[in-house]
Amino acid sequence: MSEPTPVPPRAEAVINLIALEHNVRSITQLVAPAELMLAVKANAYAHGLVPVAAAGLSAGAASLAVLEIPAGLALRAAGVTAPLLAWLHGTETDFRAGIEADIELGVSAVWQLEAIAASGANRPAVVHLKVDTGLSRNGATVEDWPELVRTALEGERAGLLRIRAAWSHLADASVADDEVALAAFQAAVAVAEGLGARFELLHLAASSAGIRMPEARFGLVRIGIAAYGISPFEDRTGAELGLIPVMSLRAPVIETRVGGSRLARVAAGYADGVPTLGIERASVLVNGVRCPVASVEVDSLLVDAGDARVDVGDVAIVFGAGDEGEPTAEEWADWAETIGDEIVTGVTPRVPRVYLR
Ligand SMILES: *Cc1c(COP(=O)(O)O)cnc(C)c1O
Repeated sequence: MSEPTPVPPRAEAVINLIALEHNVRSITQLVAPAELMLAVKANAYAHGLVPVAAAGLSAGAASLAVLEIPAGLALRAAGVTAPLLAWLHGTETDFRAGIEADIELGVSAVWQLEAIAASGANRPAVVHLKVDTGLSRNGATVEDWPELVRTALEGERAGLLRIRAAWSHLADASVADDEVALAAFQAAVAVAEGLGARFELLHLAASSAGIRMPEARFGLVRIGIAAYGISPFEDRTGAELGLIPVMSLRAPVIETRVGGSRLARVAAGYADGVPTLGIERASVLVNGVRCPVASVEVDSLLVDAGDARVDVGDVAIVFGAGDEGEPTAEEWADWAETIGDEIVTGVTPRVPRVYLR
């Protein structure tokens, strides 16, 4: 990767849209003929909603998963015309705005169908009925599912909505668990069809099952973390899956000090999202050399550069694609005993995003 700017004044996150496009393209090919819906929730996993959405669509994503209606409205305001799916709704959710902006709605509960029916929108809502197959995050329970389907069918007959899809979300803890959830999903679809529902689309898999369980792909897979170049698996890296990490966190050396060895202060701290857990294992790349992290403070971190030559103004790579020897977000996740998702989404809003393409 070529250096995008000389020396950043402070920590900055470089977002490599070429890497994102590579990942989306390769996963699109893997899951075809199923379509790829790119998950851009949480501000595109903290990579930046609009640039990621545009790059993902240009690379083959057919649609976007936005979590909440306001994020979908932001994409519409930015000129995005692709299909959008929002599924996390509260009592204050403006369903009318979502429906009139052509945002498809994931629906987990009867109260949501009632709010949609009462929204006064000038067109029928397009709904994806969600059943909980064991993850218990949202979705109707197996007990509540028939009631949800019946209520949706009433809404469809009244011309207030169109049932487009049935869907669920997998826990991705193990293939065996996902097989059980897949069977539960198919049973729920059969129940709904028995009640008279007709689904144009079924969807279940996110990155993990989308990659390793072809039978879970149905018509569409919702891909998040893998598109950002991070493996959804504990036992395989993104690089082993042919993915390229999209976000790099880099920051300048702002101070050096020679004591027993050479210490260098780097302008990225926990207020920028550098993890504080596991730093006794952590290292960052300075001038091509891995330097152990000595401490992480609010605005900066201290590294032990040993005998290496380090000057103020040198650039440290906290994490990146790994191809120059720097740690990846996955490596930080191992040190901090978490998942790579948490490392990249933890990079705070005050860190400027710089787009590379
Ligand atoms: C976040 C999310 C995804 C994407 O999950 P990854 O594991 O990041 O691929 C898919 N579907 C739903 C409902 C989600 O919330």
